[in-house]
Amino acid sequence: MVFTLALSVVLLFPAVTGWFLVYQTKIRSPMGVGIFRVRCPACKTPQSMFRKPGSMHELLFGGYHCKHCGCRIDKYGRPRTA
Ligand SMILES: [Zn+2]
Repeated sequence: MVFTLALSVVLLFPAVTGWFLVYQTKIRSPMGVGIFRVRCPACKTPQSMFRKPGSMHELLFGGYHCKHCGCRIDKYGRPRTA
């Protein structure tokens, strides 16, 4: 009984976490994962794969600050207004 319960937790937790990340990435939520290299939507400059967060939002949810034109970009390559 305990073994079955432990096994189900060990198997369910990664499955639910994986599903959550895939779903959040699919709907392009801030909780998703940005896995592709993005370009600035304003000046088309490719952004570096290694970034230094410029704000708390970028630290928590990812995103870029274009060094060429100063545009704020989310992790999916869309302009960020807030
Ligand atoms: Zn730019």
